[in-house]
Amino acid sequence: MTTTAILWLRRDLRLHDNEALSEAAAADRLLPVYVVDPRTYGDRPYGGPDSFRFGKTGPHRARFRCEALSDLRASFRERGSELVVREGPPEEVLADLATTVDADVVAMHTRPAPEEARVESSVTARLRERGVRVRRLWGHTLYHVNDLPTPYTEVSDTYTSFRKSVEREASVREQVATPSLPPLPDAVGDAVGPGDVPTPATLPGLDDETVAAARAPDPDGRGVLPFEGGESAALDRVESYVWDADRLREYKETRNGLIGEGYSSKLSPWLNEGCLSPRYVHDEVRRYEELRVKNDSTYWLLFELIWRDFFQFQVAKHGGQFFSRPGIRERHDIDWRDDDRAFDLWAHGETGIPFVDANMRELNETGYMSNRGRQNAASFLANNLRIDWRRGAAYFETQLVDYEPCSNYGNWAYIAGVGNDSRDRYFNVVKQARQYDARAEYVTHWLPVLEPLPPEYAHEPWRLSADEQAAHGVELGVDYPEPMLDLDASYEKLR
Ligand SMILES: Cc1cc2nc3c(=O)[nH]c(=O)nc-3n(C[C@H](O)[C@H](O)[C@H](O)COP(=O)(O)OP(=O)(O)OC[C@H]3O[C@@H](n4cnc5c(N)ncnc54)[C@H](O)[C@@H]3O)c2cc1C
Repeated sequence: MTTTAILWLRRDLRLHDNEALSEAAAADRLLPVYVVDPRTYGDRPYGGPDSFRFGKTGPHRARFRCEALSDLRASFRERGSELVVREGPPEEVLADLATTVDADVVAMHTRPAPEEARVESSVTARLRERGVRVRRLWGHTLYHVNDLPTPYTEVSDTYTSFRKSVEREASVREQVATPSLPPLPDAVGDAVGPGDVPTPATLPGLDDETVAAARAPDPDGRGVLPFEGGESAALDRVESYVWDADRLREYKETRNGLIGEGYSSKLSPWLNEGCLSPRYVHDEVRRYEELRVKNDSTYWLLFELIWRDFFQFQVAKHGGQFFSRPGIRERHDIDWRDDDRAFDLWAHGETGIPFVDANMRELNETGYMSNRGRQNAASFLANNLRIDWRRGAAYFETQLVDYEPCSNYGNWAYIAGVGNDSRDRYFNVVKQARQYDARAEYVTHWLPVLEPLPPEYAHEPWRLSADEQAAHGVELGVDYPEPMLDLDASYEKLR
């Protein structure tokens, strides 16, 4: 009897090391499908109808995802197959397609974050109602969930003990080989057309401004990388960062940089849309260690990938509580403020604190911000302004090209003092700016209006008298905003 499988592609847009693909390709007929779910686009409420609203997917990730889908379709076609694209709720689309092609099984990768998990449960329920078997596989972390030293419900809430336990007691699995692809089901062509790969303009729910911004990423080339979506670009980036530019050997020393493509790997967008498998990165690091050099830097890239795993397993363990205002620490004692004006100043990079503003402008223009920048911008909103940290996290959700629910909300909660840390964490943004941007090259890169100022004042322009401002040709309140709060006083409150 001929068996037919559907592969439901989600944030696993690759052919390499793709276990769901490998499972599905064991059938006699294979239909690869991507479903554009309208619930992941447009303006949405956070945490229920009474809460604030935000754009689920902004221009940068919208563009990146569309490019990733085009690239994946080309790869399937090169192998004689197809990527069928549909728009609608995946539970309906997949159930209908399963009936049309008479599928026996649907294979998919599972994800721990609540929204994705909910869709997955609905899909599973619908398919089972129709007698279709469902295969759910875990395939987006470095360490496989089944290889953890404890069940995921018991993983440590502290990063260091989690990391030590996996390093000691688990190993990274071998990558899954890319299978040869079985033919498409007979219905493809007549009853099932390929459908169009979306563009930002055809994605559901994006407003005109978002579509226009998606068409013009980083118009003046100030961003760290163009971040082209897709598996091909992902593999190219690994090749160029690790091998051609030979940057891995100095990663630990450069990773706190702020300008240019080389200071960190910039692999996050591809990892998060699943264009790149973390096990592929792991194997490339090991190969580099054998062929070139093994040092603290080569280890450190894996150390950071374990942070990524940590937040995935944390969300698997704690579920929705991770995304709640009091967080997993149940911090009901913090008096979060709701201040739209202050939030907007932060979001648009108009706080008058250059290091925060430069980072927010980079985010808005390009979808990317360095890790150092994210820590400071997040700390400023959550600690200095005491604005509901989830609004900041949701803003990052809209804007980031590399948004990932567990990494984003996990890091935000950590900085806001409601997540995986026993201490309250805040960053002194001016001290950080002086340390990591001593010559003010980064702030003037994004705020050229501050270029005439000596570096020490470019980070604290409010320390200039009116005469000094006039002498340098930068007038606060006219050329660049006055600081929106007294920073020193806000740190006094946090001590
Ligand atoms: C407030 C805040 C929000 C963040 N939101 C996201 C997000 O939505 N998506 C995301 O991928 N990362 C997020 N990060 C983590 C980190 O900033 C980015 O992963 C990193 O800047 C991406 O650049 P890179 O690939 O060059 O990183 P590299 O320094 O080259 O690190 C290699 C990889 O390790 C992982 N990694 C590194 N640091 C972290 C970390 N702190 N937490 C989890 N994984 C990490 C990423 O997958 C990254 O690609 C956030 C950090 C903060 C402080």
